[in-house]
Amino acid sequence: MARQYPLDKVRNFGIIAHIDAGKTTTSERVLFYTGMSHKIGEVHEGDTVTDWMEQERERGITITSAAISATWVKSYEDDKDQSKRFAFNIIDTPGHIDFTAEVQRSMRVLDGAVVVFDGVAGVEPQSETNWRYADEGNVPRMCFINKLDRTGASFERSYKSILDRLTKNAVRMQIPIGEEDQHQGVIDLLTKKAVYFEGEMGKNVRFDETIPENLKADVEKYRAELIEKIVENDEALMNAYLEGNEPPLEDLKATLRKAVIANHVVPVFCGSALKNKGVQLVLDAVVDYLPSPIDLPPVKGTDPNTGEEIERKPSDDEPFSALAFKLQTDPFVGALTFFRVYSGKVEAGSYVYNATTGEKERLSRIVRLQADKREEIKEVWAGEIAAAVGLKDTKTSHTLCDEAKPIILEEIHFPEPVVSVRVEPKTKQDQEKMGMALKKLADEDPTFRVAGDQETGETIISGMGELHLEILIDRMKREFNVEANTGKPQVAYRETIQKEADANHKYVKQTGGKGQYGHVVLTIRPLQPIDENAKVKKNVTREDHFEFINSIKGGVIPNEYIPAVEKGVREAMERGIVAGYKMVDISVDLTDGSYHEVDSSEIAFKLAGLNAFKEAAERAKPVLLEPIMKVEVVVPEKFMGDITGSLTAKRGTIESMEDRSMSKAIHAMVPLSEMFGYTTQLRSMTEGRGQMVMEFDHYAVVPQNVSEEIKANRK
Ligand code: GDP
Repeated sequence: MARQYPLDKVRNFGIIAHIDAGKTTTSERVLFYTGMSHKIGEVHEGDTVTDWMEQERERGITITSAAISATWVKSYEDDKDQSKRFAFNIIDTPGHIDFTAEVQRSMRVLDGAVVVFDGVAGVEPQSETNWRYADEGNVPRMCFINKLDRTGASFERSYKSILDRLTKNAVRMQIPIGEEDQHQGVIDLLTKKAVYFEGEMGKNVRFDETIPENLKADVEKYRAELIEKIVENDEALMNAYLEGNEPPLEDLKATLRKAVIANHVVPVFCGSALKNKGVQLVLDAVVDYLPSPIDLPPVKGTDPNTGEEIERKPSDDEPFSALAFKLQTDPFVGALTFFRVYSGKVEAGSYVYNATTGEKERLSRIVRLQADKREEIKEVWAGEIAAAVGLKDTKTSHTLCDEAKPIILEEIHFPEPVVSVRVEPKTKQDQEKMGMALKKLADEDPTFRVAGDQETGETIISGMGELHLEILIDRMKREFNVEANTGKPQVAYRETIQKEADANHKYVKQTGGKGQYGHVVLTIRPLQPIDENAKVKKNVTREDHFEFINSIKGGVIPNEYIPAVEKGVREAMERGIVAGYKMVDISVDLTDGSYHEVDSSEIAFKLAGLNAFKEAAERAKPVLLEPIMKVEVVVPEKFMGDITGSLTAKRGTIESMEDRSMSKAIHAMVPLSEMFGYTTQLRSMTEGRGQMVMEFDHYAVVPQNVSEEIKANRK
């Protein structure tokens, strides 16, 4: 079977917006115009309330799906002509700053983006952050200034805020016909046509040659600006234009397309999603100006056998490679694994090789999520996005590929969770559901972890920040009906040692009958960074943060008791020694000991191992480690002094400063414990203009005085 849509007719894009700018409303319109299948926000007579709620629920889920597929024929072309039809995969990008991992993840799989703005507020602080992520990923984009029907809306002011705060490359493609309650439609500057949206939900797009009298002068002026901006990107067009020949429309559009893909121009559109104005023209522009997968460079990865860097071109003829980018539970189909195919193709029912785990898995079914249904498909081709049903061991960021031609695509980097809270189910019923709910949420979100506290039996969840955990707890309530009490957010401290030390411990109990006897001699050392190439010796168990060496000679401790010693050591490390936090980066060398024919047992050796480790650790200069965050604050220049001062006061070190879209960006390393509540503080220090993102960077030794305080609080 051949692919349904040629690669150049595929568009993978995201709709990015500051919360409340209208992403949901715009997405709903997109689904309606492309799917034409279900009504938006209308309750039909005769429908029962539950029916309606079901639909609402499903629509909500569709909109927040990792990817929705749709097709589109440009609004001025014949939609019966299948050769004009384009395939869209719309990738969800959360608007919230605290989900940096989510935003970064979606930037990895989308090829272009539509950034939505509120026409009253213009550029808002979080728009700048998202814009920056798109900059980092080199994502071509366009802007949609929404809500022009609102009181106080201004296209010009919003457009200027984009120029001032985001990019000088922005250019008007349209101007609105009327604003606030007079907003009627838009003028397309390139074609000099007035565009109106009529009929049910504005689904009929009417192009009108007549431009309202009061807008004629503006149209001429802004059209000339637009054309200059376009021809700047092509010398031949530029020369022709300077000689007074306006290039033909097709040439202008082709040049603009190249310039947008190269990130030299950002076209700006406008309208009102709620009042059904303008959205279709944005979709036309997605086709005209955003890249298809073949407009982009080949994807890079490594050959798992040789470690060499290799590439895969976006082509059906290359070996199959795909990246799993999101796990999500669909109420109709169950657990879904969304993946993007970078090269080759894959069929439902076939086995795929997970190059990350080295295991094969059956891709039993493949589905596409659409506006109103889940479509079962037989195969997925290069450049496309779909979801697999029934993949059990494939997680976010894993590479699926052809076993004969393996590749590991660059992983999506997810930071370590550094904040934790205790959660306690409210009732017995909640308790049963909570475990399942937390597991599902953790499967979907690689920055969210669940653990049990062995001593108290409580559940501890960890994530990237206070808000991240709050939202997950809220989802647990809303989606899984689990009520829980939560504790205060805590920093996930760790402990380690700073020098070598040894211990000799005999665990002996002789009270009549059978006694207990275990004798362990060990040396502990700070764990050196792993030499990736060195072969691990047979007598060593090595993990990320722990190493256990068995140097016992001549059976002074019989082999059967060695695992018990290691178990005791691990338990002691879990319990910590400074303030009860998990110990990491320690190498333990079991060098000597003795046993007793009758009294020795696993439990005796476990306790001997545990106690020996504790004694050694006491003498090995144990310290607390704390997570240090890489913080980036972007503020208008006048607040710079106050902000650097506040970060220094928080034990932070300023690493660098730079100009960033009309503001100053400050990079600093600050301990996480000092950053709780800083977002609020920052807001009040900068009249709401300052914005911040932070990410875990590394663990560092806690200064003595701070360490004393932490210890005192743990008591
Ligand atoms: P999101 O948070 O970005 O997904 O934004 P929503 O789509 O949920 O919109 C937030 C609010 O703005 C809702 O009350 C919408 O009805 C409203 N809204 C969205 N688009 C428009 C628009 O074009 N005009 C007006 N007046 N309100 C809008």
